[in-house]
Amino acid sequence: MSEIKTFDCVVIGGGMVGAASALSLAQLGLTVALVEKHQPQAFSIEQPLDLRVSAISLASQYLLEQLDVWSQIMLWRSCQYQRLGVWENAFSSVEFNAQEIKKTHLGYIIENRLIQLSMWQQIEKQKNIHLYCPESLLDYQQLEHGVKVQLTHETLTAHLLVAADGANSQVRQLAGIGITGWDYQQAAMLINVKTQLPQQNITWQQFLPSGPVAMLPMPNHDISVIKNELTALQQKIQFQGCASLVWYHQSDKIKQLMTLSNKQLAEEIDDVFPKRLGKVKVINKGSFPLTRRHANHYQKGNVVLLGDAAHTINPLAGQGVNLGFKDVLALQTVVSEAIAHNELWYNSEVLQRYEKKRRIDNLVMMSAMDGFYTAFSHPSPVVKFLRNSVLFTVNKFTLLKNKALKQACGID
Ligand SMILES: Cc1cc2nc3c(=O)[nH]c(=O)nc-3n(C[C@H](O)[C@H](O)[C@H](O)COP(=O)(O)OP(=O)(O)OC[C@H]3O[C@@H](n4cnc5c(N)ncnc54)[C@H](O)[C@@H]3O)c2cc1C
Repeated sequence: MSEIKTFDCVVIGGGMVGAASALSLAQLGLTVALVEKHQPQAFSIEQPLDLRVSAISLASQYLLEQLDVWSQIMLWRSCQYQRLGVWENAFSSVEFNAQEIKKTHLGYIIENRLIQLSMWQQIEKQKNIHLYCPESLLDYQQLEHGVKVQLTHETLTAHLLVAADGANSQVRQLAGIGITGWDYQQAAMLINVKTQLPQQNITWQQFLPSGPVAMLPMPNHDISVIKNELTALQQKIQFQGCASLVWYHQSDKIKQLMTLSNKQLAEEIDDVFPKRLGKVKVINKGSFPLTRRHANHYQKGNVVLLGDAAHTINPLAGQGVNLGFKDVLALQTVVSEAIAHNELWYNSEVLQRYEKKRRIDNLVMMSAMDGFYTAFSHPSPVVKFLRNSVLFTVNKFTLLKNKALKQACGID
C-alpha cells in the first residue's frame, strides 16, 4: 500500500480545461496533482492535421497567454481569422470583421491536442504540479476540510477536487450531482479537406434546411513542402488551403455519409456546401453526437465542476471550450481573492462564488445556441422570414452587430 500524498488541489482530467485549471491554480502558489487517463501523442510537423479543432476566442487567447502557453502554440500551427460570415440566403448574409471592434483578428482555429500539449509542456516545468498519467480516478470521499481521492495506483488528499473529466464526468456522478439535458436529433461530421480556393482569413456558416454547414480555416499543412519543394508548389496551385468542414445533419444521414469513400464524400460536399471552396480533397473525417448537458450544481462540498464536466453545448458557434476557459479564470479569481482576504479558499462558501460567477453566463450561451438551432431548423415560411429579418437587422445596426461580435469573442 503506497503512502497517501497531500496536495492543495487534485484536478481530474488533463484535457484542455483540466490542464489550464492546474496551471492557473499553480500560479496562485498552490500545489496541484493533475490526473489523466491518456498520454496525448507528442507533436511533430509531419503529422496530418487533427480532426478535433476549436475556434479559440480572443478571451481564451488572453487566458492562454496568461498561462504562458500561447507562444508555443503559435510556433507549432494555427490559423488566424479576421472575418466571420453567417447566412441562410444572400438577403440575410452577415459578415463580421475584426476591424469593426478595433481588433486585428477574431480568433484562431487550433487543434485541441496542440493546446493540451502546450499546457503539458508548461506543467512539466512547474515544481508545484505533479502529473499522474496514465492514472484514473476510482473513487473519492468527502472529508471535513477536503477530499480523499482514490486513484488506481495512488491515494491522494487535497482541500479541493476539480472535476475536468469531460462530458461523462465520473466525479460528477460520484458526487451525486444530477444533470438536465437532451440529445439533439442531429450529429456533426468533421471533415478535414484541402480546398482549391484559398480562404484562410474567414470562418463561415450557412444554415440549410437540413442543418448548418460550416468552414473553419486551417493552417496550410503540406508535408511535401518539407520533402519536395517543387511538388509542394504544384500542389499549392491545385489545392491552396486546408479547412475543417462541419456538416450537421440527421444522425442517420451522417452515418451514411461516414460509409462513403473520401472521393464520394468530396462529391457530396461539392453538391451541398457553398461554392466558395472550389473543389475539395477529403483528408480525414469523423462523426460526433450532439448533446446538451448542464450540471444541476457546479459545486458540492470541496468539489467543483469545470468545462464539459459542468456543461456541454451545441457546437454551432464554437463556444464549448471557450466557456470552459472562462470557468478556469473564474475559479482562479475566486480562489485568489479568498487567499488575499485571508479566507479559507476551499470553503464551500468561497467555492459557491465560482458557481455564481459562471452559471448564468453558461446558461445564457447554451440557450442562445439552442434558440439559433431551433429557429434555423424550423421549416415554417413565417419563421424563415423572421430569422432572416433578424440577421438582416443585425447586419444593418452597427451597435447591435458589434455587441454580438464581442459576445462571440468573449470580450463583452
Ligand atoms: C463537433 C464538435 C466541435 C467543437 N468545436 C468547438 C469549437 O470550435 N470551439 C470550442 O470552444 N469548443 C468546441 N467544441 C467543444 C470542445 O471540444 C469541448 O468543450 C472541450 O473539448 C471540453 O474540454 P474538457 O477539457 O472540459 O473535456 P475533455 O476534452 O473531454 O477532457 C476530459 C479529459 O479527462 C480525462 N478523463 C476522463 N475521465 C477520467 C478519469 N476517470 N480519470 C482520469 N482522467 C479522466 C479524459 O481522458 C480527457 O482527457 C466542439 C465539440 C464538438 C463535439
